[in-house]
Amino acid sequence: MRTLISQSQLEAGVRDLAAQLNQQYADRPLTVLGVLTGSVVLLADLIRQLEMPLRVGVLQARSYRGAATTAGELVVNLELMPAVEGCDVLLLDDIFDTGRTLDELVRRVRACGATSVRSMVLLNKVGRCEVDYQPDYSAFDIPNEFVVGYGLDYQDHYRNLPFVAALDPEEIAAESL
Ligand code: 5GP
Ligand code: MG
Ligand code: MG
Repeated sequence: MRTLISQSQLEAGVRDLAAQLNQQYADRPLTVLGVLTGSVVLLADLIRQLEMPLRVGVLQARSYRGAATTAGELVVNLELMPAVEGCDVLLLDDIFDTGRTLDELVRRVRACGATSVRSMVLLNKVGRCEVDYQPDYSAFDIPNEFVVGYGLDYQDHYRNLPFVAALDPEEIAAESL
């Protein structure tokens, strides 16, 4: 496991994301929707630095199946999501890879009647995008490697690491989680 982004770099990155939102949405009510499960650490750290009237909710999207580190079919569950009709919404996810997840989620939340839907990710995997959509805010560009930590998992492990690390293919093959 190789550290790509240290704890102090993450703290600075999240502070910067919060500052952008505090400026963009100053005094405007905002609904932040965290995409389960990868966004939970970022969600907790980010919302405590936001100053506008804030609602927080979650929704679920899964595209990684079992042991696979490549994307499978996208499954979206909006049952946990609060009503967003007439609301300014920020979708929050851990990482933008092919973009298929956020592209679909933005569409789905708009269809629920949100006034505006923007998106924010911690990490942007450069050169992987397969859709005509880009996140509105991202903190770090990373190369095309499989990463874990700060919410990101490998088979639901490693979400608790306070840094972001690359898991090498040999390590993934050797894992018996
Ligand atoms: P996309 O739809 O943009 O291809 O993928 C987004 C989702 O795939 C993320 O929310 C995340 O759950 C998962 N994902 C993509 N790349 C990685 C990665 O390097 N590590 C982990 N742990 N998850 C990833
Ligand atoms: Mg995810
Ligand atoms: Mg995952």
